[in-house]
Amino acid sequence: MEAARASLVESLKRQGIIRSRRVEEAMLRVPRELFVWPGTEDRAYDDVPLPLGGTGQTISAPHMVAIMLEELGVREGDSVLEVGSGSGYNAALLAELAGREGSVVSVERLPELVEFARRNLARAGYADRVSVVLGDGSIGYPPRLARPLYDRIVVTASAPRIPHYLQAQLREGGVLLIPIGPPGYQVLTRVRRVGGSFHREELMGCVFVPLVGEDGYPAGGDGGIQGPSERERDPQDDARGDHGGRAHAEGALHNRGLGRQGRRGPQRRDEGPHKGRRKAALRA
Ligand code: SAM
Repeated sequence: MEAARASLVESLKRQGIIRSRRVEEAMLRVPRELFVWPGTEDRAYDDVPLPLGGTGQTISAPHMVAIMLEELGVREGDSVLEVGSGSGYNAALLAELAGREGSVVSVERLPELVEFARRNLARAGYADRVSVVLGDGSIGYPPRLARPLYDRIVVTASAPRIPHYLQAQLREGGVLLIPIGPPGYQVLTRVRRVGGSFHREELMGCVFVPLVGEDGYPAGGDGGIQGPSERERDPQDDARGDHGGRAHAEGALHNRGLGRQGRRGPQRRDEGPHKGRRKAALRA
């Protein structure tokens, strides 16, 4: 397994996806085979997302994980929030990057995956470095607290807009990374809090499972969290123009176009290759 891990990391480096020594070392240290669903261990180092049992969720493809870690830029000592624990794999990598002086909280909405992520993190030796909590991460953690708490926030599910409380929980100089867009096609978006304002960059196309919750998408009849009504949304959010709803996110795709990397770079998706789909998604 270690040889397979080293070979995957080498390949991600060759492709220019892993660019920093820190991300390389973290990916070499965390054993992905301890985080995949039982029975899929032999595919742990294939560069593909893998199903997490019958939950309908996935452990993201290694290239997508590496891209997000590079773009997030976690530093030693950072306080990090992850939304979407899934298997716990990305949370373990975040813990490696934040180091012993840092902290990682990971929020997951499905109880079965909270248990799975906790168990995997314990087996891999990260139980004391990551707190996995059950809840709706679309409203931050602690929920609905509009106070700057985190240096880095990463959302590993796709949202219709930038969730209000996630932005509010960013510290000065902090970075929020989140796929924004409709199901089937999103733009990996980075928000930086600088001098009290929020700067937004669109990085590249990607495809993630939906963020289901109050400031995400409504649950698709799976008994989960219900979506917000218009009344529950803070009208100031729309005034700021940073989360004006689904039409705004789709408008960003059509009107503003993608950033430099989005135009030039390959499309990365969470659920496997889908050539040509980005163009179709842009037209949709
Ligand atoms: N980071 C994970 C890993 O390393 O395995 C992969 C995450 S998977 C692509 C997305 C996860 O987000 C799923 O486990 C899903 O249940 C979770 N999720 C969706 N909406 C959520 C919400 N509002 N709050 C917390 N978790 C959510």
